[in-house]
Amino acid sequence: MSQVHNVIIIGGGPAGLTAAIYAARANVGPVIIEGYAAGGQLMITTEVENYPGFPEGIQGPELMQMFRGQAERFGAKLITADVTRVDLSSRPFGVWTDADELRAHSLIISTGASARWLGLDSETRLRGFGVSSCATCDGFFFRDRELVVVGGGDTAMEEALFLARIASKVTVVHRRDEFRASRIMADRVLGHPKIAVRWNAEVQQVIGDGVVDGVEVRDAVTGAVEVIPAAAVFVAIGHDPNTELFVDELDLDPSGYILTDGTRTSVEGVFACGDVQDTVYRQAITAAASGCMAAIDSERWLEAALHQASTSGQHA
Ligand code: NDP
Repeated sequence: MSQVHNVIIIGGGPAGLTAAIYAARANVGPVIIEGYAAGGQLMITTEVENYPGFPEGIQGPELMQMFRGQAERFGAKLITADVTRVDLSSRPFGVWTDADELRAHSLIISTGASARWLGLDSETRLRGFGVSSCATCDGFFFRDRELVVVGGGDTAMEEALFLARIASKVTVVHRRDEFRASRIMADRVLGHPKIAVRWNAEVQQVIGDGVVDGVEVRDAVTGAVEVIPAAAVFVAIGHDPNTELFVDELDLDPSGYILTDGTRTSVEGVFACGDVQDTVYRQAITAAASGCMAAIDSERWLEAALHQASTSGQHA
């Protein structure tokens, strides 16, 4: 059998990298498979203003680079690959990437969450041609144009405020008559001279042939249909947990989040942290904190499990 690692961490966002820092400093020798989209959602975030220790704010990618450097400094081994399969049915656990098969006594899952889409054919057809889920990545291409942001949460507010610096006008399209976003973010949007809000509007399709021309919305109250002209539409309607790998392996809640008790999952020796198991807070700081907890939990569990294995081996 190939080398059995003490702990493999799957996912390289704030949760996974924090787990790696703690596990490396505890001399556990963690291997972190960070995924090709390494760094997680902070890689597509602009200014992070609420991460303690950075009173002037910091760019998301820069913060993640610092996390990564800190993990490497203490000897965490980083593998940039996507995990394609796991086997949690017996220990040591199996983890497969395109190139490798790895084994570990313990796993920490920190695969995070991904942007949700509306599920319209026209949205899929025009993705990359004016339909986007990342204002930071794609806003630049639409300087001085009219843009639409779909959603009513903090992500939508953040995208709208960012795009208002670039666009001639931003319309936030929301399906209800009230934002879900925090008050401070909502107020910034509502008070912004370049941002309009279209309440009670359900997106029916994205209009355009090759490039986006606008968004067709239906008024949820009156049923009236109208087209809002836009050169691009930014979909910001929340996230889904990245748990496809674990559907048959771990207990998940009805939305697909990993069910945890602390950081323990339904399989002994497997821990989860960050957005993949957090339906409530979903912040970089809470992800990092739960990564720390998962590392400590797995380290304690490992110590007990390996001790038990060695003493039962002695008596065999
Ligand atoms: P949320 O789940 O908070 O909001 C999603 C929004 O999209 C809601 O307004 C929802 O409408 C709407 N929506 C969902 N599905 C659809 C659909 N099919 N069609 C139309 N609209 C839809 O997700 P966010 O990504 O905004 O935020 C996630 C978490 O991250 C939150 O806790 C948020 O506070 C946090 N966050 C914090 C930031 C910060 O502090 N700087 C920045 C970004 C996020 P409805 O309201 O009707 O359900």
